[in-house]
Amino acid sequence: MSKGKTCIICDKEKSMGIHLYTSFICVECEKEINSTQTSDEKYKYFVEKLSRVKNPPLYS
Ligand SMILES: [Zn+2]
Repeated sequence: MSKGKTCIICDKEKSMGIHLYTSFICVECEKEINSTQTSDEKYKYFVEKLSRVKNPPLYS
């Protein structure tokens, strides 16, 4: 059985979620992001996490 994938936001293994580029976001976090106001402090936290997805670290 599949153990699922590790969510980049909460770092927990989930089987339900969406794929973003090469990363994975679980449904709970996706809902939370969508329900968070952009003026909310928490939104910055999500954006920071997501920015790592869009700009993955280079392997040397
Ligand atoms: Zn999550």
